[in-house]
Amino acid sequence: MRIGVLALQGAFEAHLRAFSALSIDTIAVRTPPALAGIDGLVIPGGESTALSMLIQSAELEQPLRSAVVSKLPLFGTCAGMILLADEVTGRRPDQVNFDAIDIAVERNGYGRQLQSFEADLDLDVTNDRRFRGVFIRAPRVTRLGPGVRVLARHLNDPVLVQEGRTLVASFHPELTSDLSLHQYFITNVVRAAEAA
Ligand code: GLN
Repeated sequence: MRIGVLALQGAFEAHLRAFSALSIDTIAVRTPPALAGIDGLVIPGGESTALSMLIQSAELEQPLRSAVVSKLPLFGTCAGMILLADEVTGRRPDQVNFDAIDIAVERNGYGRQLQSFEADLDLDVTNDRRFRGVFIRAPRVTRLGPGVRVLARHLNDPVLVQEGRTLVASFHPELTSDLSLHQYFITNVVRAAEAA
């Protein structure tokens, strides 16, 4: 198994380290050929506007659209959630998004006071486990499609959601030492490979 991590901008190194700690083979994706042969792809946090421009200049937009259509397991965190959502408010009009999950998100949706914060989350994916959510100018989920499962909430907001093989978090699981969400993504990748 090999996991690709989009490595154009943002917190990609922390994701690469998290998978290495789980003894999972990884590749830093900067060009279209790096997508060949991967079993899952992470789109990290960073700045979705910058990521969008870099995706286009690296000629990765069409290959990433094909990855979505082919149902490659995807894990988007923070800016990655924004890029994978169906609908984004507060984005630059020319910013790309990949329609990989039927949610609407508002960029920087937690406003000025709460630009960055941490909160303990109860995860629906690990029995009785709490997860420390690090939110940095996080997107806020404002609409959930009928097929979307909520795996964690903060107060009333969904902050970890999944539809099919697309998992997205509004926080940064790669910035804590807890590997349980990376492990959960690997479980999804294994299931997808078994179904193929
Ligand atoms: N606010 C950022 C954006 O719009 C996301 C922040 C993050 O990834 N930590 O892309």
